[in-house]
Amino acid sequence: TFITFEGIDGSGKSTQARLLADHLRGEGRDVVLTREPGGSAGAEEIRALVLQGDPDRWSAETEILLFTAARRDHLERTINPAIAAGKIVICDRFADSTRMYQGLSRGDLRTTVDQLHTLMIGREPDLTVLIDMDPATGLARAKSRQTAEERFEDFGTDLQAQMRAGFLGLAREFPDRFRTIDGDRAMDAVAADVTRTVSDHLAS
Ligand code: C5P
Repeated sequence: TFITFEGIDGSGKSTQARLLADHLRGEGRDVVLTREPGGSAGAEEIRALVLQGDPDRWSAETEILLFTAARRDHLERTINPAIAAGKIVICDRFADSTRMYQGLSRGDLRTTVDQLHTLMIGREPDLTVLIDMDPATGLARAKSRQTAEERFEDFGTDLQAQMRAGFLGLAREFPDRFRTIDGDRAMDAVAADVTRTVSDHLAS
């Protein structure tokens, strides 16, 4: 089973992915918790290339290629082997993040992103948990834990709002696998919803 978490910066998806992994492990399930960009040795190297240093180093198109290359390595080395071994893979961001960030934020490149995805990735998650959240709240959270590494988190409120609307649009585009959860609540309340949603999926 392949489960992804998506949402804007500061939506709490990384925390929720970890809490879900802990919960499922507590039930005795075999879980691999991973993230993008990254999740394999090669993809973590590419993460450093795209997230560190001069934000204008790569053109929008080159950035799509780098994210796709990272995803391909992550799939080959981490995700596909784990799924083949019957494990539950929980991934913090996946192709939907590229559809949004690389597909929308630097011009309209969604078609390019989708074409490369078809050619090089192919796989979609069985379930995508979208943690939906007010852009200003998310931005404030993201800024409060900003590290030197994370140049992307300089995104302003306008872009956060555009990304939020974009993710909600993706949830409408792929209703079979998307479940949207209100992230503007206490961590435990959000986690309870996530657990229920995932348990329903695993039981179906
Ligand atoms: O999810 P996480 O906070 O680790 O992501 C790091 C940064 O990379 C975020 O600020 C996110 O906006 C950015 N990112 C991106 N395109 C992706 C994935 C992440 O711009 N496909």
